[in-house]
Amino acid sequence: MEVEMVESAAARKNVGEICVVCEQPGFKGIHLYTSFICTECERDITATDTKDPKYTFIIKQLKKATKPEIYS
Ligand SMILES: [Zn+2]
Repeated sequence: MEVEMVESAAARKNVGEICVVCEQPGFKGIHLYTSFICTECERDITATDTKDPKYTFIIKQLKKATKPEIYS
């Protein structure tokens, strides 16, 4: 039996998905709600100290992603 990597529709189309943290297109990563986080940023999130300003930046980016602006 063939084991297949689970890829998103965007990755299959070879356009990648825009990472919510670094805002760069990536093919590998995780999904948080409807947002995409590339493997590099995912690693950053787990490796960065919470006192690091970089961590604050990541959290800011994530909040932006997980709280879509709804005008209704
Ligand atoms: Zn990223």
